[in-house]
Formats: sequence, structure tokens, C-alpha cells
Amino acid sequence: VRDLSREWHAGYLGVSAADGLAELRTARPAVPDTGTVAADRPGAPRIRFEDVRFTYPDTARPAVDGVTFTADAGRTTAIVGPSGAGKSTLLALLLRQWDPDGGRVTLDGVDHTAHTLESLRRGVAVVSQDTYLFHATIADNLRLARPGATDDELRRAARAAGIHDEIAALPDGYATRVGERGTTLSGGQRQRLALARALLADAPVLVLDEATSAVDERREAQIVRALLRAARGRTCLVVAHRLASVRDADRIVVLDGGRVDAIGTHATLTAQSGVYARLVAAGHTQEEAA
Ligand code: ATP
Repeated sequence: VRDLSREWHAGYLGVSAADGLAELRTARPAVPDTGTVAADRPGAPRIRFEDVRFTYPDTARPAVDGVTFTADAGRTTAIVGPSGAGKSTLLALLLRQWDPDGGRVTLDGVDHTAHTLESLRRGVAVVSQDTYLFHATIADNLRLARPGATDDELRRAARAAGIHDEIAALPDGYATRVGERGTTLSGGQRQRLALARALLADAPVLVLDEATSAVDERREAQIVRALLRAARGRTCLVVAHRLASVRDADRIVVLDGGRVDAIGTHATLTAQSGVYARLVAAGHTQEEAA
């Protein structure tokens, strides 16, 4: 009887898991996937936000309100601003987790809704420390980006992302099991593993969502600089919740309350008495206090 009840319980869990899978298979994306252009062109695209406006459902205030800027092809553009300024929302709009209420986002001048969702998302690699790792080996987790990648290609990508030495130092190296119930990796290590995956996938656009906690600001700045060096030649968008890592960006877009406050470089923006200069000053105070 005990065995039967255990089997019944296992069977019941299996049925509910299968229900979940069936639901996933039939789930529709929140945005219409009517585009026909495959975004698989060689080379990094120029990304442009044109007068983009967006309000989340059931909220009164727009999260982004008339945002216009260009992220040049093969360059690094940083998006900075106080908490709630709309930085993450711009990324969500780029990846079409939502569509704007007004304005548009273009890739090399082509409205990004004209691309198929699949090719759009395949062309944009997102590197964040929230990267999901499957309970599988490091090699398997990397090969998700390119199933046919050779061991040599894995090592090359990991080296470029600055994570090879740490993987090699693990007792089982690339065969170490990670993810749920596996060896735990730090936030910074996950971020670099995500970059290695992105480099393997050879996505022409790299979106880097900076860590907000876990590592201190100076260490984060080092990680971000290394990531950007490795990703040279791709169009990079960095959402910086802190400022230390974006000083070298080719262009910095300063957001405030969903609007663009200023666009410039670290040098030109610090010379102005705007939001950026205030954020830099606040950063100094925090560092001194620490
Ligand atoms: P942070 O630096 O704190 O991450 P952020 O600049 O990335 O902030 P967003 O997360 O883009 O800011 O938020 C912009 C505005 O949209 C905020 O007012 C926020 O409360 C709101 N918002 C964000 N996500 C949602 C959501 N899923 N539903 C409703 N409102 C949201």
C-alpha cells in the first residue's frame, strides 16, 4: 500500500508537470509576432529609439516618455539614471517584452517589429548575473548558445570572457555540474559565464545589465570593463545602476523620470550641472562613507 501511494504521488506530480509544459507550448507571446524580416545579417546594427513612449498596464505615469537616442553600430552606449528612471524598461522594449505605445525602435533603420521575434531575440545576447543555469555541466550550459561548439571553441569563449581559469580550477573543470543542486557560482561568475555564452552565440548586439548588489562597485566596474573589451565590435547597451563602470562608454544617455535628461560622454556630462553630475557626486559621497 505504501509503494502504491508513493507511485500515485509520483504519477500525480508528473501529470501536473506535463500540464505546465503543455501550457508553455501553447502560450502566446505578449506582443504580436507578425514580422517577416530575419535579423540574421552579418555585422553589428545601429539601434535607434525614436520618441519612444510606454506606460505599464494599470499604471498612471509613463515609464518612458519620448525617449530618443542612437546606439551606434559596434560601439558602447550606457544608459544611466536614478532608480525608476526607466532604464530596464528600455531594455524590455528593445527585446519586445512589451511594445511601445508611441514611437519606435529601429535596427539599421528597420522597425524592429518587422523582424521575427525569434531572430530579433537571437540577435541580442543579454548578459546579467541573473543568468539561469540548468542543472547540467558548465560545458552543456555553454553549448546552449551553440550546440555544435567544439571544446576548443568553448575554451576560447570562456577565456575571452575571463572565466576560463576559474572553470579550469574546479575539480571537474568544464564537466562540473552547476545550477539547481549543483556547484554554486558567484553573481560575477554567472555574469561572465553568460558573456561566454553570448560570445559563443556570436550575437551582434550585447545587452549588459549591471549587477545591483553582490559585488562592490569597484569590482563591478572591473568586470564590466573586461566584458566590454571582450565584446568589442558588437553594439553594446549597458544599463548601469551605478556609474563607475560606464566612464569609458562611447555615449552615455542620462534618463530621469522616463525622459532623456542629457546625452554625452563622461567628460562632457560631468562638466554640466545636470542629473549626471549629481549622480557622480552622490557616488563619491557613498564611496567616502564606505
Ligand atoms: P532601477 O535602477 O531601480 O532598476 P530603472 O531605471 O531600471 O530602475 P524601470 O525598472 O525601468 O527603472 O522602471 C521605470 C518605471 O516603471 C518605475 O516607475 C517603475 O515603478 C515602473 N515599472 C517597472 N516595471 C514595472 C511593471 N512590470 N509594472 C508596472 N510598473 C513598472
